[in-house]
Amino acid sequence: MKNPAEQFSKASNLMYEGKLEKALGMFLEMEGNPGLAPFCYYRIAQISNMIGEPEEAYDLYYKAFTAMPNITSRMYNEEHSNYGYVFKGMKEEKRNTKCPICGKESTPRWCYALADTVGYNDFFNPVRMWMYCEPCNHMFARDFPERLFIYNDTPRSANSAYFAYYSEILATIRRFGYASGMTLFEIGIGA
Ligand SMILES: [Zn+2]
Repeated sequence: MKNPAEQFSKASNLMYEGKLEKALGMFLEMEGNPGLAPFCYYRIAQISNMIGEPEEAYDLYYKAFTAMPNITSRMYNEEHSNYGYVFKGMKEEKRNTKCPICGKESTPRWCYALADTVGYNDFFNPVRMWMYCEPCNHMFARDFPERLFIYNDTPRSANSAYFAYYSEILATIRRFGYASGMTLFEIGIGA
């Protein structure tokens, strides 16, 4: 009989090499094994996202976090910034599926496990869906934590050490004539 842990890591390697169909077949075969099931849901979620099925990915990620709340610690080593993350149930979210620019109903495009990323802020739920508005070519996050602005409203004070850095960027924009205006419109993806 094949060693399940070895099979799992072989399938994971296939996934990272982009052999998605082959990897998917192996994970589907292994998900019947109760010890491996949550890890298989997680990997199948990753693959679903890559093959254009983000809603499937969303459900599978939560299936994984529900079955094994500390799955992040089990999948990564101690150096990972969210190594100690434990899923404690869904935080209330505000859902918006309409494009904030034009108001058109948009479609789910990408789904990521935020808990995978560096600098994850656990005011957010661990899985996030990104929506796409075709007419605007605009992507935006579908869900925001209801209480984010109550608990996370500390203004960030300006760090003057960055002034030189930003000045250099702005000077370059002007020097090469990319823009001649005097007004700056910044688009950020932070909380
Ligand atoms: Zn739009």
